[in-house]
Amino acid sequence: MQAVVLEAKHDIKIRDIDPGEKLSPRDVRIRIHTVGVCGSDVHYYTHGRIGPFVVEKPMILGHEASGTVLEVGRDVKHLKTGDRVTMEPGIPDPNSKASRLGMYNLDPAVRFWATPPIHGVLRPEVIHPADFTFKVPDNVSFAEAAMVEPLAVGMHAATKAKVKPGDLAVVIGAGPIGMVTALAALAAGCSRVVMADIVDEKLALAATLGPVTPVNVKNKNLKQFVSDMTEGWGADVIFECSGSPRVAPTLFDPLAPGGTVVWVGMPVEPVSFDIVAAQVKEARIETVFRYAHVYPRALALLGSGQINVKPLITDTFPFEKSKEAFDFAVKMPPTSVKAQIELPA
Ligand code: ZN
Repeated sequence: MQAVVLEAKHDIKIRDIDPGEKLSPRDVRIRIHTVGVCGSDVHYYTHGRIGPFVVEKPMILGHEASGTVLEVGRDVKHLKTGDRVTMEPGIPDPNSKASRLGMYNLDPAVRFWATPPIHGVLRPEVIHPADFTFKVPDNVSFAEAAMVEPLAVGMHAATKAKVKPGDLAVVIGAGPIGMVTALAALAAGCSRVVMADIVDEKLALAATLGPVTPVNVKNKNLKQFVSDMTEGWGADVIFECSGSPRVAPTLFDPLAPGGTVVWVGMPVEPVSFDIVAAQVKEARIETVFRYAHVYPRALALLGSGQINVKPLITDTFPFEKSKEAFDFAVKMPPTSVKAQIELPA
């Protein structure tokens, strides 16, 4: 089948490839409709690796996908041909210790789309376990359904933060993950999100997402800004979504005593932070790696209208322009958040 193949660093081709899959009794075969271009796909394109994961042979890109069920394995009960679906890209070993403990996202044996050596889904069809395939509400488009993957990261972060109704949250970094984290924090009950970034265009878009107060930290001090908003108390939750090593040293400054910091962004190099600054506030520190058990909740929030991801879908490319889509994502203009690729119907 024709797929978007990363041959090696800086080399993307649309070409014929056989991903070598076959339908097992608990699998479904899915026609892919929409695939989001993710920062990780772009990173493999530009760097050929992320940490220990190295592109050593040609790999199909893409892991944020939605589509339509074409065929179901004989033991599949909850899906049928024609169902509109979105898929979790990470398949753990269901019998692993991590899976049995309910943390399947931490299973060392997880097979994750477009993470070497596992093929992604920028191709007409994929075979996938039905247990990791979720029906999309009728009022949710394929484009929105392909946003469930990044949204799930934000929702996992909001869950780990244990947001209480009325909390004030700070989100640092107005990239795609910062945006979905802000949406998830508001849906979880935050009264307001302070969005911190250094790019005015991104902040302007963030401000349209709900009760979001943008602050450009190039010319404003975040600690002072939050202090002024909270009679000197600070924010209940801080979500670090920038991955920038420059953020770490002062991350605890805007936090309220007893507050929570969630590390969502992944710095490329190790960063250091001020442990005493955290201790004097008895800060709770959480981290997230992908997500687990979040897709049904994300789909429910999209279906009920509590979360609207449409403002984040800024650019759409046809499948045959996939290489252009990746080149666009490498040099993303500040007014763009998420680029998606649509496959022919
Ligand atoms: Zn992604």
